[in-house]
Amino acid sequence: MTIAVDFDGVIHAYSKGWADGTIYDEPLPGALDGLRALMDRAAVFIFTTRPAVDVAMWLERHGFSTRFDFDGTFWNDRGVLLVTNRKLPATAYLDDRAVRFHDWEQALTALGMTSRLLDCGFCYEEWGEEVHPHPECPVTAPEGEQAAPVDWQAVVRQRERELKAVGEQKHAAEQERDGAYRERAQLLALLAALHPSVIAPAPDVDEDGWQILYLRIGGKQASWHIAPRDAELYAHVEHVPVDDRRAQWDGHTTEAKYAHIGEHAVRLYAEARGRAETPTSGKR
Ligand SMILES: [Mg+2]
Repeated sequence: MTIAVDFDGVIHAYSKGWADGTIYDEPLPGALDGLRALMDRAAVFIFTTRPAVDVAMWLERHGFSTRFDFDGTFWNDRGVLLVTNRKLPATAYLDDRAVRFHDWEQALTALGMTSRLLDCGFCYEEWGEEVHPHPECPVTAPEGEQAAPVDWQAVVRQRERELKAVGEQKHAAEQERDGAYRERAQLLALLAALHPSVIAPAPDVDEDGWQILYLRIGGKQASWHIAPRDAELYAHVEHVPVDDRRAQWDGHTTEAKYAHIGEHAVRLYAEARGRAETPTSGKR
């Protein structure tokens, strides 16, 4: 059996702590007899961060034979005290600063490092200290650590300014969107005048006044929803009931509609240019 024994606070009384770094104190009461009793039954080494030679000399002065030159892993010698700063294997470590570990929850509790809600219901204890961040906490935090009182009026004014700015941004974005819809509506009104077209109530929109404009462009159907505010742009288009056969959606998707319109536009343009060039092509 091997037992590790801490030096300061276990053998050396250490009544003033580290102080100037010297080994200034007497042995703790019972320390020398205790060490001898241990050494009768086990190999013992002293585990310390002090220079091993200092501790060994102190122990020699108190009647022990020591070693401090061991570079092995397992210390098994009885009758001689090894002094080392290496954490060698041992059956037990005797230390005035030790916390026995079972599991992490127990260890953190033992170290006072678990959070718990304080009685006020707002604040908590963390790492062993009370934290009172809540402005309405009825428990007064220690003087000097109390947070400055919150100026709720200023907070409200700031929130109101932020809300107003967001409202203005929203309004500007809506203006821009509605402007784009208006331009779309005017161009569709022009297209409706150039192609076979009808307009009918929109059965798929709950809000009153919405309509769907159906055009035949290049032999295919294309349709658009028209908002109530743009309705007056389509006065020239034939208005039909929702069950008119020309007002039945043929299942085209938005992507297919614009793909067809794009191809049709290219074709129209090529045809128009062909007509324009024919008289000057030189073939009479
Ligand atoms: Mg100690």
